[in-house]
Amino acid sequence: MHDHRRLGRDLGVFSTDPLMGAGLPYWLPDGATVRHTLEEYVREAELRAGYRHVHSPDLGKRELYEISGHWDLYRGDMFPPMRLGAEEVVLRPSLCPHHALVYRSRGRSHRELPLRIAELGTMYRSEPSGVLGGLTRVRAIHLNDAHIFCTPEQAAGEARAALGLIRRAYADLGIRAARYRLSLPGPGGKYVADPELWRRATALLEEALDGQPYEAAEGEAAFYGPKIDVQIADAAGRETTLSTVQIDFHQPARFRLRYTGADGRGHRPVMVHRSVIGSVERTVAHLIEVSGGAFPVWLAPVQLVVLPVGEAQEERAYELVGEAVARGVRAEVAGPAQGTLGARIRAARLVPYQAVIGEREAAGGDLVAVRLRDGRRPGAVSGAELLRRIGERARERGWELWGDA
Ligand SMILES: [Zn+2]
Repeated sequence: MHDHRRLGRDLGVFSTDPLMGAGLPYWLPDGATVRHTLEEYVREAELRAGYRHVHSPDLGKRELYEISGHWDLYRGDMFPPMRLGAEEVVLRPSLCPHHALVYRSRGRSHRELPLRIAELGTMYRSEPSGVLGGLTRVRAIHLNDAHIFCTPEQAAGEARAALGLIRRAYADLGIRAARYRLSLPGPGGKYVADPELWRRATALLEEALDGQPYEAAEGEAAFYGPKIDVQIADAAGRETTLSTVQIDFHQPARFRLRYTGADGRGHRPVMVHRSVIGSVERTVAHLIEVSGGAFPVWLAPVQLVVLPVGEAQEERAYELVGEAVARGVRAEVAGPAQGTLGARIRAARLVPYQAVIGEREAAGGDLVAVRLRDGRRPGAVSGAELLRRIGERARERGWELWGDA
């Protein structure tokens, strides 16, 4: 595996500047392309799974986090509040309180449940400067988050469906789970004191795991409830949590959430917190580490590089890139000004498709000589045929670069 901190900079994915501050990386164009593509993937998967998306602000009044319990139990990880007139506002440590308010914005009926609210939003953590680095330890985290408000009877099914979304995303992204962890409270930690709620939430998560092997770990729970953490391993074999599914009886009570049941009475919903790909920072860092920058076709910042052998073929090369871009394929030209053909091929070694246009191909009309990142050379095909294949392989989100058709 590779170290994403060095490679991520070399690949033009992200960088940092002391003036922006430690733990606040910025995304360069190629990195932003990968990130947008990931975000679109997640939003699409969520829409198909019945989620609705919202946007909520990065700030909230201190009272909001007093109600949620963050202020009492999680303050050490929060940025200090900012005084604004008579108010104090805080950079949010999580999206949950905002989504609880979205739920509470009007009366809810049991017929609306499960109500799945998703947001790719920013949250902040006042990590000490000593541990910051690259994309994995940051102070602003862009989280693929969602909260499912449901009846207690629906909670295990919703948690199980969230695990299904996680498995599907890992297959599409080529991420391997190191293990599933059932994270429980431990001695001495800061946890909400309500043994009965912990017991019920843990039983529901065990039901949701549904035969999936896991290891229980004490002292790793959220302050408000137990969670299933999907662990990944980095280049040095260190484990971190990428995805998580949590069952929470605490915040619905703190925010006095209600729905009207079939019996016409008020009932309290359960909150299932879940993140499919975790933070985009951590996911992209991991993808760089496992792939060395050779992203699957659908995620590659540049999918096709067109290489005219000499100046005579440059016009045709730019034409093909124009056609590619119009068809949604991310393509660029690497012309003779950038060095010998061999040097340009080596420079583009992480790009899934290379199309060489020499005198022979140009004489054949629309032909290009195709080279694949994995070393295969399918030979000369028309530019239109190449673009059709790339479009097809990107839509499939598989790892195969060429295939039968
Ligand atoms: Zn949450």
